[in-house]
Amino acid sequence: MAQAPHVVILTSSGLGHVLPASELAKRLAVHHGFTVTIITYASLSSPGHSSPLASLPPGVSVAALPEVSIDDLPADAHLVTRILTVISRALPQLRDLLRSLLDSPAGITAFITDMLCPAALAVGKEMGLPGYVLYTSNLMSLLSFLYIPELARTTTCECRDLPEPVLLPGCVPLHGADLLEPLQNRSDPVYQLMIDLGRNYLLAEGFIVNTMDALEHETLLAFKELSDKGVYPPAYVVGPFTRRRCPDSDEVKHSCLRWLDNQPDGSVLYVSFGSGGTLSTAQTAELAAGLEASGQRFLWVVHHPNEKDSSAAYLGTAATDADPLSYLPDGFVERMNGTGLLVPLWAPQVEILNHVAVGGFMSHGGWNSTLETVAAGVPMVVWPLYAEQRMNAVMMSSDRVGLALWERPPLGKDRAVVPREEVAALVRELMEGEKG
Ligand code: UDP
Repeated sequence: MAQAPHVVILTSSGLGHVLPASELAKRLAVHHGFTVTIITYASLSSPGHSSPLASLPPGVSVAALPEVSIDDLPADAHLVTRILTVISRALPQLRDLLRSLLDSPAGITAFITDMLCPAALAVGKEMGLPGYVLYTSNLMSLLSFLYIPELARTTTCECRDLPEPVLLPGCVPLHGADLLEPLQNRSDPVYQLMIDLGRNYLLAEGFIVNTMDALEHETLLAFKELSDKGVYPPAYVVGPFTRRRCPDSDEVKHSCLRWLDNQPDGSVLYVSFGSGGTLSTAQTAELAAGLEASGQRFLWVVHHPNEKDSSAAYLGTAATDADPLSYLPDGFVERMNGTGLLVPLWAPQVEILNHVAVGGFMSHGGWNSTLETVAAGVPMVVWPLYAEQRMNAVMMSSDRVGLALWERPPLGKDRAVVPREEVAALVRELMEGEKG
């Protein structure tokens, strides 16, 4: 019998990357009879939740690249700098692992890298492997990544000072401040790393994109035109990779789902900023006060606050032994008993969004969360915090989809604290108003 095709998928860090990689692997194994090896980075494993890699079907195996040190990076190095440095320092180990997989009886049919690892495509190319990028966000943001080298070459000011909107093909116009967050400071070393990333994408034979025609029809057409002309490798739209159950869901129903069972239909606002979204202490207090003032029921997944980094929870750098609820304003937890449920660090999001009691979602606009919300038919407020989330917010709040209600924050490097009145008004609008 012929050997089943063997696909190697290199994933990076964070649930938003590991989940789509494992969903792709599952589909290749279950629907197509492929075997799959998922390669992860030991240095990039995120704490706080059990991994979706623990529940994979037969035919899918996992290999971890050994730890590499990034201790020499400055303490305040950008999250993306830390991730890309790990990826680049682990290339020799990746080469060895790919070589041994290639020499095994299964060989390697195709090599797929996460959207943050296109540097690894060069290693695959050395071995003659067809290389693809699993792009775990939308096409609009892929176009913005591909545009980075040109942006860097043709402009000298900071993105947020660009005099004209950026017109990516087939996309809503973007203010420079809404472009990728790591591009917002030219003097940060992450800026150059982003240029390299944009260039490395051109090494791919194609992009496997976790989006759908219904959300990005015009962008897809524009992308196809460009790839037909040979400007970019082709994009294959294969999403949405949404799940019905969280991988961590076990036989024991999470207590927050039992709490939801006792709430009226459509009455609860779910508040969560993904695996990485992190608010400052002052912003946490304003959000708490705003939720209280809104008078709405809510289920809030609370992370430790961080004063500097809006993605601090991503690699667990915000984590301390302290209970995240202890950072909430005095008396808040007691006052909210009954109206609001506060869940530390992690909750089964897909089950929550599909629970009949949930009537709205306040989200950081991570792409997986966005797809899960659309699939569950829940209106959302997008509160973008890092990565490409401002672009996602623009897309969601544009007429084409119209799910996001969050007013975009003032421009500038440091975000002002969004006041409680604004939070309360927006939450009421979402849960009771016309727009919601
Ligand atoms: N997630 C979850 N529970 C949490 C936080 C996140 O199940 O408490 C899942 C969520 O359903 C989504 C993923 O983690 O599938 C987060 O991906 P997203 O792209 O939305 O954001 P990121 O965390 O990558 O910023």
